[in-house]
Amino acid sequence: MDKRQKAELVRLAGKKISFDCPMAQYTTWHVGGQSEAIYQSDDLKDLRQVIVYVNREHIPYFIVGRGSNLLVKDKGLEGLVIFLKGSLAAVEHKKTEKLTILAGAGLPLVDLLVYCRSSGLGGIECFAGIPGTVGGAVAMNAGAFGNEFGSRVHEVLLITSRGDLITKNRAQLRFSYRQLEIEKGSVIIRAKLKLKRESSEIVAARIADYLKIRKGTQPLEYPSAGSVFKNPPNEYAGRLIENAGLKGKRVGGAIISKKHANFIVNTGGAKAKDILDLIKLAQAAVKKETGIVLEPEIKVMGNWFHN
Ligand SMILES: Cc1cc2nc3c(=O)[nH]c(=O)nc-3n(C[C@H](O)[C@H](O)[C@H](O)COP(=O)(O)OP(=O)(O)OC[C@H]3O[C@@H](n4cnc5c(N)ncnc54)[C@H](O)[C@@H]3O)c2cc1C
Repeated sequence: MDKRQKAELVRLAGKKISFDCPMAQYTTWHVGGQSEAIYQSDDLKDLRQVIVYVNREHIPYFIVGRGSNLLVKDKGLEGLVIFLKGSLAAVEHKKTEKLTILAGAGLPLVDLLVYCRSSGLGGIECFAGIPGTVGGAVAMNAGAFGNEFGSRVHEVLLITSRGDLITKNRAQLRFSYRQLEIEKGSVIIRAKLKLKRESSEIVAARIADYLKIRKGTQPLEYPSAGSVFKNPPNEYAGRLIENAGLKGKRVGGAIISKKHANFIVNTGGAKAKDILDLIKLAQAAVKKETGIVLEPEIKVMGNWFHN
């Protein structure tokens, strides 16, 4: 970005734009270099203008939720990182449509679950413990305990790279394993979720049960990005990595977790390169042992476009 482009971004979005921001504080792995600029957007009209501008100027941009599935490279990022806040992270619940809620893409899943618990709405308790946002869960079609977030999504509001606001209904939404097919550069603004009537007590008890299972099976005491690799058909990536003898393997400050081999954890001071080296090591070892090529579930940022 040159000076003129930076000045124009500030003119369009004011104090919500900042420059040279360490991405380690915006990702759950707590690694990575600086992004050239970030935009904490809480206004749909401004956001559309910024999207149109960055596309016109060919400035790379990237939407980040809680950064819980992201690895930002140590050299950092050129371009603009966009977060959705305020009105773009709110819940709307009409009295006439009791089982339907409109969830802003920037809303943390934990806040969505708190809302569902207090309103007696069930159906998404299994996603408790996923430290992402609604936008991230929709874009990644987050999955847990055999369920996919996409199965609850009945409509998505998007901004296209041209700045158009479009609604995609259920029949137009193509969810697959850890993916929603959307046009490159689109921003998910909100999702309409269809839920089930439940008592608050049942929702609370289910959330507690799921959290307990996660605590028992995942290394939640260390920063991570959850499962690093997708599970190959009829297999578990964690089991393949464990069978390749890599549990506990360390590079710098990063370790393949002894508790769950599909997690790479930051034990303190890890660099993105340490994590990338472990990823390559696991891929090579599993390929050698089984012929299976493990495909990362996490998104690596630093080479535009990553996906
Ligand atoms: C401890 C732990 C446990 C986890 N457990 C699970 C699990 O059980 N199941 C699971 O599926 N995942 C799990 N994850 C991974 C991660 O939390 C999920 O993938 C989550 O859905 C990502 O949400 P996010 O908001 O952090 O997205 P980010 O990591 O910020 O972004 C992920 C991708 O979504 C895109 N994106 C985010 N918001 C938008 C938007 N508004 N519009 C367009 N694109 C957008 C980003 O551009 C990026 O490509 C876990 C992670 C951790 C750290």
